[in-house]
Amino acid sequence: MKDLSEDIIAAEPVLIIEDDGGFAELMQAALEDLGCCCRTFACGREVFDWLAANSAALIILDYTLPDMTGAALIQRMRELGITTPFVMVTGRDDASLAVEMMKSGACDFMIKDTTFLDRLPAVVTRALHEDSVRRKLKLTELSLRQSEARLARAQKIARMGSWEWNLDSGEIYWSDELYHIFGLQPGDPAVISTEWLYSLIVPLDLPVFKKAILNSLKTCQPFNVVYRITTRNAGEIVVTSQGEVECDETGRACILSGTTLDITARIKAESEIQQLINYDTLTGLPNRSLLHDRLQQAIAQSARDKTLLGVLVLDLDRFKSINETLGHRAGDKLLKSIGTRLQACVRESDTLARLGGDEFVVLLVGVAHEDGLTIVAKKILAIVSEPVYIDGHEIYSTCSIGIAVYPLDGDDSHTLLKHADLAMYQAKELDRNNFQFFSRDMNIKVLERMMLENSMRKALDRDEFFLVYQPQVDARTGQITGMEALLRWQHPDLGLLAPDKFIYLAEDNGFIISLGEWVLRAACRQNKIWQDQGLPAVRVAVNLSAKQFGQYRLDEVIASTLLDTGLDPRWLELEITESTIMKDAEKNTAILQRFKEMGISLAIDDFGTGYSSLSYLKLFPLTRLKIDRAFVRDITTNPDDAAIARIIIDIASTLKLSVIAEGVETRAQMQFLSFNNCVEMQGYLFSRPVRAEEFAKLLEHGLNY
Ligand code: C2E
Ligand code: MG
Ligand code: MG
Repeated sequence: MKDLSEDIIAAEPVLIIEDDGGFAELMQAALEDLGCCCRTFACGREVFDWLAANSAALIILDYTLPDMTGAALIQRMRELGITTPFVMVTGRDDASLAVEMMKSGACDFMIKDTTFLDRLPAVVTRALHEDSVRRKLKLTELSLRQSEARLARAQKIARMGSWEWNLDSGEIYWSDELYHIFGLQPGDPAVISTEWLYSLIVPLDLPVFKKAILNSLKTCQPFNVVYRITTRNAGEIVVTSQGEVECDETGRACILSGTTLDITARIKAESEIQQLINYDTLTGLPNRSLLHDRLQQAIAQSARDKTLLGVLVLDLDRFKSINETLGHRAGDKLLKSIGTRLQACVRESDTLARLGGDEFVVLLVGVAHEDGLTIVAKKILAIVSEPVYIDGHEIYSTCSIGIAVYPLDGDDSHTLLKHADLAMYQAKELDRNNFQFFSRDMNIKVLERMMLENSMRKALDRDEFFLVYQPQVDARTGQITGMEALLRWQHPDLGLLAPDKFIYLAEDNGFIISLGEWVLRAACRQNKIWQDQGLPAVRVAVNLSAKQFGQYRLDEVIASTLLDTGLDPRWLELEITESTIMKDAEKNTAILQRFKEMGISLAIDDFGTGYSSLSYLKLFPLTRLKIDRAFVRDITTNPDDAAIARIIIDIASTLKLSVIAEGVETRAQMQFLSFNNCVEMQGYLFSRPVRAEEFAKLLEHGLNY
């Protein structure tokens, strides 16, 4: 093997087509010496038969064959689509054929002279090498074309185009997809100038674009710029271009290349999300969350500028009655139109927000003197009181405004809003359709109460109430026997509120009736859902307040709730406190009797804290006594509490009632109670009150304590 390198040695044979057998043998020997494998044919026809089923690396072809000329053989081969390279061999007399043969595609031409055999290996080596290079080039070209096609497809899918800018020649190349992004046909215009490109960029964004590129050229750092362009077909779109600079050996930037991506859809989705998070859907005004941000910014700015910041809380007077008489749609229209009017009252730098319901907030920044706030407040009162025409009705509305001023009335957003709110209640209290500045002399307790009462009425519509559930457990087995539904209020400003913060208010102002009905319905519905899901059936205990209990149609409400929710009455227990039940014992016996007849259980809550007449207790159709957690707390250390607990357990047993202890937090308390025959318990030891999803897991998997 001489100089034929590995990659050129063809796996396929070299064909020798030569009718002179002796000469053919010599040629074969020379080529085999080179590392080639050879096949020899004496006439043209044999070659075609062979090539029909095989392929060859190279053909060495004698021009004069017995059955045809070399030229005819080649032509026939081409017709058959065989592209094998060939070297033409002729006698000394046919040298004139050389040019013709080369034209017909021969890769070389040899004359049979005395040096023929010496030259043959070199010629074959070169022919094989050239063919190998040609094949590789073809493959590379093919794969390049495939990659280009793939890239174009990817760019199309991603709405991403690529570009290259030769800084020396000024030539700019764009991929097809880039033309598409710009709403153009690929290649039109064929020549891209920077001026033309600049003319497509939205003028406001052009400086940003130029700056990014110049900066990149100067620093040789990559750049990334977002800008808008005007397209022919899709109007204004948003794109982002990323690019890199290529520098020559001297460090001078010579090529800028990169990609451009159409991000219009993404930007739109992002802004829609922002809109949902930060803006009120009805009026399009900033909502509570954005207001807090803006307020914080405004506070910081006022602190820097040493100016006043006015926080105006505005609440429509009697909006509820408008809503009720004309319907929610009319109410919505009114709110929208008020929003538009208010917007006209404030400067662009001020913020107008809607907190929900009929409450708006205006932030007035950069105020030099309180008088400025007074002027705006008066303007708002005037503009709100102008009539609004909705669905053929002329609606007159007024509003009350409370004003808190930074830094006089507070230096954080919560305090300022709260104080403005309190001032607003004061305004409502004094005389509607006016405004009040917050003052420290206000009866804050009373106003706070008013504020809470007011937001409580709105809370039901806004879905701010929810129930948590606390398991009641048979301590002998650890089984859940029931659960108590306990009310919670997720207040928008004050956070999560427990019932002791608001139930008394609801009882005072009568709201407890609607709230209580909501609790009852929610608890029954949830219990039925769990049962329908195949979870173990247990009773749900619902607390009733004294006000609800005195309500004449309570039994109807309960009956219809059970009917509507489909809950079997035996899975509902009502908890009534000892003091409530004993207040008008005679009358209450009849009410309780009706519940009993309906199949509902009755428990006396907080038992032991009030005064119970045993004779009445005997008359009441009760199911259970609940030992108040006040006795359970020190049951293992305070002999008095222990004695009271024992007595309650005894009373229950005498009256054939069940007994349950609440507020069980420790194992020692549990053991004491168990030892004294109180088997049902409720308390943090077993579980805190938990949300419905959590409680379903407890029902499914049991308690872990
Ligand atoms: P309650 O009916 O005596 O409810 C038991 C209270 O004790 C619940 O407080 C419960 O979270 C708490 N508790 C349970 N286990 C433990 C414990 O191991 N340790 C301690 N320290 N506390 C425990 P919550 O939920 O704050 O309820 C307070 C009261 O509010 C209730 O006392 C009930 O009288 C009233 N309430 C709750 N929900 C409603 C309701 O829907 N309607 C009415 N009218 N009143 C409700
Ligand atoms: Mg209770
Ligand atoms: Mg209790």
